[in-house]
Formats: sequence, C-alpha cells, structure tokens
Amino acid sequence: MKAEFEKAFLKGVRKHTSIKKQIEQKVRQIIEHPVELGEPLKGNLRGFYSCPVKRNFIIIYLYCAACRKKGDAEFVACSNCSTTSDETIKFVLLGPHDEVYGGRDYTGLGGVISSFDS
Ligand SMILES: [Zn+2]
Repeated sequence: MKAEFEKAFLKGVRKHTSIKKQIEQKVRQIIEHPVELGEPLKGNLRGFYSCPVKRNFIIIYLYCAACRKKGDAEFVACSNCSTTSDETIKFVLLGPHDEVYGGRDYTGLGGVISSFDS
C-alpha cells in the first residue's frame, strides 16, 4: 500500500500536535484496513472516506481501488487518480468534524501530494 499526504492534511497535523501520536496510529490502521475503517461519504463528497481519530475529529481520505470500483473516478476529486496504482491511499484532510465539513471546496484535492514527514 502506498500512502500519500495532501498539504492540507499535513497542515492539520501541524495544527493539532497534541494528538499527533493518535493521528499517526490511525493513519497506520487506515493503511492496513482502508475499507473496513472508513465510512464512505455521500453527495458532493462521494468517493471520499472518513474515519474518526477521536470524538468529532476526523481524517478524510481517498482509496484509489475504491475510486475506480465505484466507476466514479471522473466524479471523485482524485485529480491524479489515473497515474496512481489501485493500492494508493491519499490522506486529504484532518480536523474537527465541523471544520472539515464546513462548506469547504474539495475541487482539486488529491492532486497536491507531499510526504508525511516534511
Ligand atoms: Zn483515486
């Protein structure tokens, strides 16, 4: 499994350093079991999965095998999906539930990827 991290996700990690350990642990669990742990989102977030780190604090990610299986890769905002392998997880966002869902524009997410450590 290949894991990629969005700038917005890494920004979230830096913003919430007090729970960095919990976030890292959850990231590892998601990489092991992306489908089992994730809750598929609906509507304009179709194709994304969410997974709670703790109460009201969630991780949003894409799993490319799922992008394609649903046949809505065109619709899902996974911009370089065609260049990644099926076994790719893209960690897109993390933060408090309301902040993550609060009218954010998801267009173009899945494109800007950097390393978790940077
Ligand atoms: Zn994808």
